[in-house]
Amino acid sequence: MAGQKVLVTGAGGFIGHHLVAYLKDKGYWVRGVDLKYPEFASTAADEFELLDLRRWDNCLQAVRGVEQVYALAADMGGMGFISAHHAQILHNNILINTHTLEAARLAGVTRYFYTSSACVYPEYLQTDSHVVPLKEEDVYPAQPQDAYGWEKLVSEHMARHYHDEYGMQTHIVRFHNIFGPLGAWNDGREKAPAAMCRKVAVARLTGDPVVEIWGDGEQTRSFCYIDDCLEGIYRLMQSDYTEPLNLGQDRLITINELADLVANIAGVTIVKKHIPGPQGVRGRNSDNTRLRQVLGWEPQISLEEGMARTYAWIEEQVRLWLTRDGILV
Ligand code: NAD
Repeated sequence: MAGQKVLVTGAGGFIGHHLVAYLKDKGYWVRGVDLKYPEFASTAADEFELLDLRRWDNCLQAVRGVEQVYALAADMGGMGFISAHHAQILHNNILINTHTLEAARLAGVTRYFYTSSACVYPEYLQTDSHVVPLKEEDVYPAQPQDAYGWEKLVSEHMARHYHDEYGMQTHIVRFHNIFGPLGAWNDGREKAPAAMCRKVAVARLTGDPVVEIWGDGEQTRSFCYIDDCLEGIYRLMQSDYTEPLNLGQDRLITINELADLVANIAGVTIVKKHIPGPQGVRGRNSDNTRLRQVLGWEPQISLEEGMARTYAWIEEQVRLWLTRDGILV
């Protein structure tokens, strides 16, 4: 309800930063918390605190006086990052989520939003590019590919038990590849859509058409634009639904096709060079049947439109970067 006090953790990150602005527009009083301020634009939060949420005392500080929590803070990144930092991710994210949830309970928080991931789904269901879209119940028997997904699954369980045993209204979303402007694009934590925009922008601005792609590029994913993500988060938080719910697009595309799509937006001809690199699962798509049933809605923004908006922002970042380094004059 507008006017309520809410906390957004991870408010210095990609989705958290956008979510703060979205909730402010809806009339909420918002406290943002993160290890860092948003990198690319100033926050719209009423209050922004730099806190390490692995620490219990900081979690108590973060939740004081708020009625709702949107828990987005996580040590995360694209495939390159999550396939190489299992111990760090498991350690940090378990601490963040355990402490944030318990602090919220003690503070009397009424609604708690936990951001899980499609990475919870078992590897054995994602071995083919032509993957069958993943339904929420497909998560068992559990076999996430990475520690990142295992932690998400455990924290989902914790949120569900807090609902069952303590009566806290917990909502759990499983994001499928959210993308858009104002996210990591060049720091080693960027995900495929941002990395692809960067590579194509470099090709366009420098005239070198070679774009490197990890693996054969035939691995598949679906991608969801940030504005749809925000609307889905908000709709779920207003609902009474407390089971995990997919939130993503259900249009499957190969990474090679994604490269062509971005090149088309940029108006440049590229030469794809396939190199060894972490690829994650072979195929992953969202089954949105339950999303439609529960929210009476599903993501609306096409991949072409979302990528065009994202590409425009990233090309501008790349232009500044190449100019600063003296590569462009
Ligand atoms: P992000 O990395 O941009 O944002 C996460 C934020 O958490 C960062 O700003 C980081 O500084 C902060 N953080 C990390 N450790 C912290 C700590 N100890 N204390 C306080 N803050 C800390 O990632 P995002 O894409 O905005 O993701 C938001 C949430 O959604 C995460 O929980 C992520 O796992 C989940 N998710 C995202 C995607 C996606 O496609 N972007 C997909 C699935 C799940």
